[in-house]
Amino acid sequence: MGKLQPARGTRDIFGEDARRMEAVTAAFEATARTYGFQLLATPIFEFTEVFARPLGESSDIVTKEMYSFSDRGGEAITLRPEFTAGVARAFISAGMQQSLPVRLMSHGPVFRYERPQKGRYRQFHQINAEFIGSETPETDVEMITMAWRVLESLDIVDKVTLHLNTLGDRESRTVYRDRLVTYFGAHKAALSQDSQRRLDTNPMRILDSKDEGDRVVVEKAPPLDESLTQASLDFYARVEDGLRACDVPFTRDTRLVRGLDYYTHTAFEFITDALGAQGTVIGGGRYDGLIEQLGGPSVPGMGWAGGLERLALLLDAAPSVQRPVVIMPMGDAAVRAALSLAEDLRAAGHTVIADRSGNLKKRLTRAAKAGANHAVILGEDELAADRVTLRNLDAGDQESLPRKALTDRLAAWS
Ligand code: ATP
Ligand code: MG
Repeated sequence: MGKLQPARGTRDIFGEDARRMEAVTAAFEATARTYGFQLLATPIFEFTEVFARPLGESSDIVTKEMYSFSDRGGEAITLRPEFTAGVARAFISAGMQQSLPVRLMSHGPVFRYERPQKGRYRQFHQINAEFIGSETPETDVEMITMAWRVLESLDIVDKVTLHLNTLGDRESRTVYRDRLVTYFGAHKAALSQDSQRRLDTNPMRILDSKDEGDRVVVEKAPPLDESLTQASLDFYARVEDGLRACDVPFTRDTRLVRGLDYYTHTAFEFITDALGAQGTVIGGGRYDGLIEQLGGPSVPGMGWAGGLERLALLLDAAPSVQRPVVIMPMGDAAVRAALSLAEDLRAAGHTVIADRSGNLKKRLTRAAKAGANHAVILGEDELAADRVTLRNLDAGDQESLPRKALTDRLAAWS
């Protein structure tokens, strides 16, 4: 057996890292709730086809990154590499089209077989929001603004730039695809092998390539704008206008294409330069054909996903923990009495931990290490008099007071 290390690309999350990720999740849930979102928890694994079809047989995720296996019953199973396809599958399974639109938020682990580095893992976590059943550009505005507010509430909005683009409707994309095939076809020799293959399967993906040789060719590729239909241009203009109405700043990025097949119209990313090559912290867009592609009704959707680890890295400081009160019963009778005393304090909103072992000096040392601000000492004398000793660990002084007065006294101090 190898060393007891987590598998490559995975990690144990605790302490400061855990508090950072908790803070991001809490900000996401609180913000999304104010936009009417409700929680949807989908399974961590699905039948492989749930992801393979909508993500596109030629996408990086499907060709290289999925954790797929056949289970003991011979079913082809994949650990979710993203949320959207599973959410769309759940939408269809539950017949949610009966009550449109639906606003669904999710968060949890996702899995991709990638080369691990800072901000890139094989098991990572996403926050995810999907707005299904509305085809208006104002929905896109709300969704992007909601992401902006999450970043604002975490105080990291100054570290990111919103990149916005439109991929147009299907008609625009068909026209553009042909233009790209002509252009890239003329520069085929300069493209990476991956991109030469993409030329046949999905030429738009070449625009998204990270290969440096490809980037040079992509620089001079024809812009999508010239292929957009009037309807696509009008849609996009309303997205820009709505963002201005909400005071959400953005930059137009005509090179922004998202890596997946199912996007139409709006595409956007929040990008930071604080995390090196792992600069995209939130990405999303409109996916009007996805649910139909999965075998469901023709229902439009708009969504985004954020990388929890990357967002957590952007936080200035880890959120602090509430300083605990340590309750220290001395003797058997006090141990029992301390149980209910601790419950009273917790009910009043304090974080309470009990320390029942060792002499008082040892316990006070441990309490200081735990970051406690107060110790409540409960000895036999105190018990008999229905009193407690309250010690302020910062100041180093203490006082005796009736047990009943303790919560009020602590409330006054904290
Ligand atoms: P990248 O270009 O960095 O590979 P992506 O386009 O594959 O990102 P999405 O599929 O849009 O990413 O996923 C949404 C978000 O999830 C990303 O913006 C990023 O913050 C995060 N993310 C993606 N892959 C990873 C990973 N391997 N480890 C950690 N976070 C990730
Ligand atoms: Mg990726």
